[in-house]
Amino acid sequence: MPRFQGFSAQEKQRMEIIINASKYCIHKAQDEAFSDYREFIRRAHKYFDLRNVAGGHEAGTHLIMKTVSSMRLMIDSDTYHIIKGGDQGNTNADMSTVIGFHRAKFAGDKKQVAVQARTQGTMMYAGRTINAYEARLLSYGQKGSAPMHFYKGFFELSGKLNDKQSQVETFLHELSHGAGATEDVDAPSCYGWQGVEYCKRNGTSTVNAENYGFFLQSYLFS
Ligand SMILES: [Zn+2]
Repeated sequence: MPRFQGFSAQEKQRMEIIINASKYCIHKAQDEAFSDYREFIRRAHKYFDLRNVAGGHEAGTHLIMKTVSSMRLMIDSDTYHIIKGGDQGNTNADMSTVIGFHRAKFAGDKKQVAVQARTQGTMMYAGRTINAYEARLLSYGQKGSAPMHFYKGFFELSGKLNDKQSQVETFLHELSHGAGATEDVDAPSCYGWQGVEYCKRNGTSTVNAENYGFFLQSYLFS
């Protein structure tokens, strides 16, 4: 388990259940990708609409796989810690993203190349191409730990709810920011099932945290 800061014993117990359920989802997704690829792709279509993702369906599938494996590395190695915060209104939780989709600073066709690389899970950092996990290591250090915050609203959510926001979905959403460099695309348009649909329509689903939260949570239901 990661390090906990500011949680009561009861809240800590609750968090451990949520973390274990999230871990189950991530492992199940990765197992499915290798054992039942057809089913994995069917599910990816539902939550990301691969026909419409930036960079095309092949790049989109790569990015989903890379993001899920980065999330697995972070959750299995406990290289993050969780902090309880107070009342933040509509914000239930947060975790900073490593290098955002729109932060590749290139002009002309170079920008196109950088954006295309990003859609396959590769980012530019100090002139070099790196993947999401390397980006995380650069930001927090190999022994460093990334902070994830949970606020009052989080404790008012249900534990799990298929295709809806929940504690498991929120945890997975945040982990995708910290481990996989996802973003909140055009916030607040990107939240909830409507947000998942919004990003599917405009081709940004594979870089939007909420799509990963909903996609991965679905493994608790089928
Ligand atoms: Zn977010």
